[in-house]
Amino acid sequence: MVAVAVERPGALVLMENEPRALGAGDVMVRVQRAGICGSDIHILHGTNPFAKYPRIIGHEFAGVVEAVGPQATGLTPGDRVVVDPVISCGLCYACRVGRSNVCANLEVLGVHRDGGFRDRVVVPAANAVKLAPTLPVEVAALAEPFSIAANVLSRTGCSADDVVLVYGAGTVGLTVLQVAKLHGARVILADLDAKRLERAEAFGADRVIHSAKESVPVAVAGENEGLGPSVVIDGAGVPALLAEACGLASPAGRIGLLGFSPAPCNVSQQEIVRKELSLHGSRLSRRLLPQVIRWLEQGRLRPAAMITHTFAAAEAKAAFSLIESEPGQVVKVHLAFD
Ligand SMILES: [Zn+2]
Ligand SMILES: [Zn+2]
Repeated sequence: MVAVAVERPGALVLMENEPRALGAGDVMVRVQRAGICGSDIHILHGTNPFAKYPRIIGHEFAGVVEAVGPQATGLTPGDRVVVDPVISCGLCYACRVGRSNVCANLEVLGVHRDGGFRDRVVVPAANAVKLAPTLPVEVAALAEPFSIAANVLSRTGCSADDVVLVYGAGTVGLTVLQVAKLHGARVILADLDAKRLERAEAFGADRVIHSAKESVPVAVAGENEGLGPSVVIDGAGVPALLAEACGLASPAGRIGLLGFSPAPCNVSQQEIVRKELSLHGSRLSRRLLPQVIRWLEQGRLRPAAMITHTFAAAEAKAAFSLIESEPGQVVKVHLAFD
């Protein structure tokens, strides 16, 4: 049984692993595909404040159910599933108001608990989302990253009336773009990298802004009948962008934040009040994997082009090196465990 783990910051290792015993409400999943995420890289670098070491990483994974506990309802061996990595208590205030992704006792597979970069993993059955037989497993493994986009746009709201500006055309930006287009919005992406912007256009961006060459506030001033974007999503995680977003958003605009930087930023209270802006933090996803799976099954997203590279799990070190050395070339890198 092979697992990809971070033994201590900086040390990515392949190790033997036996999954924990199957509890009454658990299922055992034979992992087939798993995606490498920016937060896995943070754990490798020791910059994820929630991770303890050693840690088997991986929170974007799909596979086949091999065994079910006696109280695991709705699943049988042979079912194909994607796993929601967010484990919540169901009892605290956040859980009671439907915000299980910010549960007071939150545990994320691959961060707080050992994750899915291994050939077999035991997870609560409630976290396993069944797939239609026709959905390819590599596409299913993209459901978690798309759920991040679905969550931030559910926080801000997004409809065909909106002009959405997304900072950052990396993996997060491309998923936000696709989910916003699915809602019928006009979508603009800003990034410092021309190659990423070219890719964003291929994924359906209505407009791209090369922010190294062009001021974003100036470029978007004429949007939305001269009022500016009604939704601004920071997929880049740069604190200073919040002040810029408050300045350029339209009246009644909504700003969605995905970054996790502890650095403060200067935001004018006046901008927020004058335009009645809403600021929304968005963390992980609030049980949105079933929704994303339906969109994927209906062909309403463009997942295939997101997967730029696939490595055998035994080649995980090469996969991580590629992401670090050629960030412009990769969108999503997958590990194959079968
Ligand atoms: Zn992720
Ligand atoms: Zn809770």
